[in-house]
Amino acid sequence: MRDTELYRHLLGLETPWKVGRVELSATDGRVDVWVEHPGRTRFACPDCERELSVYDHSEERAWRHLDSCAFLTYLHCHPPRVDCPEHGVRQVGLPWAEPHSRFTTLFERLAIDVLAACDVAAAARLLRISWDQAWHLMDRAVARGLAAKPLNVPAHVGVDEKAAGKGQDYITVVSDLDAGTVEYIADERRQASLDGYFEKFTAEQRAGIEAVAMDMWEPFAASVRAHLSDADDKIVFDRYHLMGYLTKAVDTVRKQENRALAVTGDKSLAGSKYLWLYSAENLPARHQDRFAALRGADLKTGRAWTIKEDLRHFWSYKRRGWGAKHFTRWCPANPGNDGKHIEPRIPPAFMSLTRSSTFQHPGRISSRPCGSRPYSSLGRPATALSATFGITTSRNCQVSLPSGLCTNRGASSRYFLARWFLNMSGGSTM
Ligand SMILES: [Zn+2]
Repeated sequence: MRDTELYRHLLGLETPWKVGRVELSATDGRVDVWVEHPGRTRFACPDCERELSVYDHSEERAWRHLDSCAFLTYLHCHPPRVDCPEHGVRQVGLPWAEPHSRFTTLFERLAIDVLAACDVAAAARLLRISWDQAWHLMDRAVARGLAAKPLNVPAHVGVDEKAAGKGQDYITVVSDLDAGTVEYIADERRQASLDGYFEKFTAEQRAGIEAVAMDMWEPFAASVRAHLSDADDKIVFDRYHLMGYLTKAVDTVRKQENRALAVTGDKSLAGSKYLWLYSAENLPARHQDRFAALRGADLKTGRAWTIKEDLRHFWSYKRRGWGAKHFTRWCPANPGNDGKHIEPRIPPAFMSLTRSSTFQHPGRISSRPCGSRPYSSLGRPATALSATFGITTSRNCQVSLPSGLCTNRGASSRYFLARWFLNMSGGSTM
């Protein structure tokens, strides 16, 4: 078999395409393959598929293809153009590559598999492409996948922000709390970050959104108010973030009190930080005696802890009225409230959703690197996933992204989205 015929088979070229010549450079470790078509071949207009004769040829282009053994392999061609009476002079579609790609489709497919299995730097090294090219391939795969993803209006939306890397770099993650899927990701956590999600829908479609679970973060609330009617009946501050604030408040009380006691030589609070961070039922047995003694002492920290624990019952009510009563009872005890009652505003959707763990903590969904399925249905434990995707998960399913990825501003959400999509969509992105 001649080398040109061999490469026609290797490239899977079909008529009218054939290989004109093959050049091998042993010193450069590369093979160059020139693809041609016979004269008088007719090609379809890419817009209307009308068969037309060749008008002219564009300048020669080259595409990186799968390696031939260890040799880098490039495919070269002068793409033919047709002159369509309706669409003008257009370059015809080439069967081996997507328009504007510098890689053949087969190479892109391999690259996506590699990118899904390891980080961008490792993929670039294995594939012998640049870091930018690896990003570009991932972007294209994500764009194709997103274009194929049906637009769906979730009834229950989760909004969460994720710290990406060191410093104040955040991304906004929007999820469908019922389906357990990540729906949208944007850089930073500004109002505009969330606006971009709502603006995908018409006002009529947005009316299908019944509730939005989120942190008490004003820009997110402002975005919901700008896009949903009766927004304040639909915003539900999630339990995870609310309890996080209270736990922090308890810790602040402990710090201040410990400092004040230390002045008088009282060390009863010293080294007790972590005891106050546990929920009552999670305190390890070895700490129980000391913790009971601390709570029995007349300490501000103990009272703060009791206030925090008391609010937790709020989420166990099944009826709004009872939940509201509990909240009102809880509020006057809240220091800084000046004895004023706070009328709780409990959205209609709240009580029916309160038992849903994703509603109580939307971050549970966005922390799944694959987005679409819970860990268990993937058939491997979270730790294995963490290792596979380079994403670390703590007990609370909080995500932290590898910090090295955030060298480019804006790269973090692309990374997160790309990973999520590549893993979710499997081969369907090509
Ligand atoms: Zn046409």
